[in-house]
Amino acid sequence: MRVIETVNEMARWPRTGNIVLVPTMGALHEGHRKLIKTGKALTQGEGNLIVSIYVNPTQFNDKEDFKAYPKTSEQDYEMCKEEEVDLIFCPSDNEMYSERESVSVIEKRLARHLCGSTRQGHFDGVCTVVTKLFNIIRPTTAVFGKKDYQQLAIIKQLVSDLNFSIEILGAETIREQNGLAISSRNRFLNTEERKQCHAIHKALVEMDLSNEKQCSELITLGKSIIKSEAPLGRLDYLEIVDRQTMEPIQTIDRPALAAMAIFFGNTRLIDNIEINSL
Ligand code: AMP
Repeated sequence: MRVIETVNEMARWPRTGNIVLVPTMGALHEGHRKLIKTGKALTQGEGNLIVSIYVNPTQFNDKEDFKAYPKTSEQDYEMCKEEEVDLIFCPSDNEMYSERESVSVIEKRLARHLCGSTRQGHFDGVCTVVTKLFNIIRPTTAVFGKKDYQQLAIIKQLVSDLNFSIEILGAETIREQNGLAISSRNRFLNTEERKQCHAIHKALVEMDLSNEKQCSELITLGKSIIKSEAPLGRLDYLEIVDRQTMEPIQTIDRPALAAMAIFFGNTRLIDNIEINSL
């Protein structure tokens, strides 16, 4: 397994066959492992699987959150070796951003709701760094998790709007036994918070299983489950949106997404569920 830290070296690296990229911020867990396995299968034994590990400062709207972001390089490398990753690209901030940089990628529509409305500039930072990674690594395919569903929708839009010839694949969310979506941030939860977090997935599943078509009723249902089973949680948002445009909808009359962000202490967790109209 090669480890490359500079843009120049990455640019010179010889490419053949499918080049599959799994972008991450490190602190790898079983959710990332699933993306890596999906990526490995796509190389069909002849291409190359690249995992990028970079904690991108421009997508953090909260400096403390950026500083506290976990770093576990040794374990990350171990997991990549176990999964037969061909190359890790792990640049420094100086490699990724020059002091004189003044051009970035702005997302104007899909970021208006959900995480985009409460995390100002977050998706512009994501779009900019993903554009840079795509240009530096030049993958044929990139794999993103449905756990960050709005991010996945925005990356698909970015590839279409900026004419990248890259196939974007969405991988299913990997969960702990109690349904909690695995996240690098789960380690910040205390025992009581951890117990209550099962309510996030439970609320979303109950919303999906209910035959209710009125979104306001579904949201009321989800909120009541959070209130009774996760009293330590502070909802950032619980919304139902069109799966493609990320615009809020009134009734389940098209492929929809119920998405939630919730704080436990300072830890902000997100999750979602696809709700179909039939
Ligand atoms: P991150 O390192 O948090 O930026 O995540 C890197 C990629 O892993 C993103 O595409 C995420 O959507 C994906 N991811 C994070 N957590 C999970 C999970 N529990 N299951 C599946 N994919 C995930």
